[in-house]
Amino acid sequence: MRMIDLRGRKGLVLGVANQRSLAWAIAEALDEAGARLALTYQGERIEENVRALASKCESSIVHPCDVTNDAEVAALFDTLAREFGSIDFMVHSVAFARREDLDGAFHATSREGWRIALEVSAYSLVALSSRAARLMNPETGGSILTLTYLASQRVFPNYNVMGSAKAALEHAVRQLAFELGEKNIRVNAISAGPVSTLSARGISGFTQMMGYSRERSPLRRNIELREVGDAALFLLSPLASGITGTTLFVDAGYHIMGL
Ligand code: NAP
Repeated sequence: MRMIDLRGRKGLVLGVANQRSLAWAIAEALDEAGARLALTYQGERIEENVRALASKCESSIVHPCDVTNDAEVAALFDTLAREFGSIDFMVHSVAFARREDLDGAFHATSREGWRIALEVSAYSLVALSSRAARLMNPETGGSILTLTYLASQRVFPNYNVMGSAKAALEHAVRQLAFELGEKNIRVNAISAGPVSTLSARGISGFTQMMGYSRERSPLRRNIELREVGDAALFLLSPLASGITGTTLFVDAGYHIMGL
């Protein structure tokens, strides 16, 4: 049992693809703290992976959810209402851009490439938060968490349209934090350092990004998945009850560096 006790708390974790996913590190931390979880998968290709991982959790349900499919999103929240009644937290760990938009010239990004990246990676937080808020109890409050990257503020070659999506996502965190604050719901982001996951490997030159971050970070290393899980557990727990609208860097300190 972790030092943070979330027994009796229930919530949704979107974005587990496999055991290297940041969402899985967060789900593991929440599960160890005693929370009940609903995990989602996008498409049959991933379902088996997610069901196998969910079976390791003490108490979880598994549901399909492509965030671009309004019917699936509605069905997910119907299931949550039926199975959990209310929820205490939601973890949004979802992002996508077409491979051709994560390589080469940013100025060549197509309208469709831009739309897809921002819809999946940023708008989905807005739409899901609206639904999640309706299942959160104002008495006990709620906590929403998303995952972002420093490319929202600085230039990382090849990160391209995903940098635009992360900038939009971080703005949405602040706007949602303001609006949902009156319902006692907190909204925060973790800006993680590079971790070799399925999505990250789709970014051209990602291995170099990891090497650069390892050499230049104040801690002189890359982060571990577990460190994202631990920080998420804190932000989702009552220990962070005064924190909202914030981006917490879990990046071995890389974001403070100039050179
Ligand atoms: P990951 O394991 O590949 O997770 C990304 C997840 O997004 C996958 O589960 C993927 O599902 C899901 N997804 C994509 N399109 C979706 C859609 N339309 N509907 C529902 N789910 C969809 O990679 P990750 O690195 O853990 O990424 C999680 C989050 O962390 C992302 O927001 C990412 O930008 C952020 N982040 C990652 C790093 C890093 O270095 N890894 C650093 C900072 C921030 P499918 O696999 O089924 O498509």
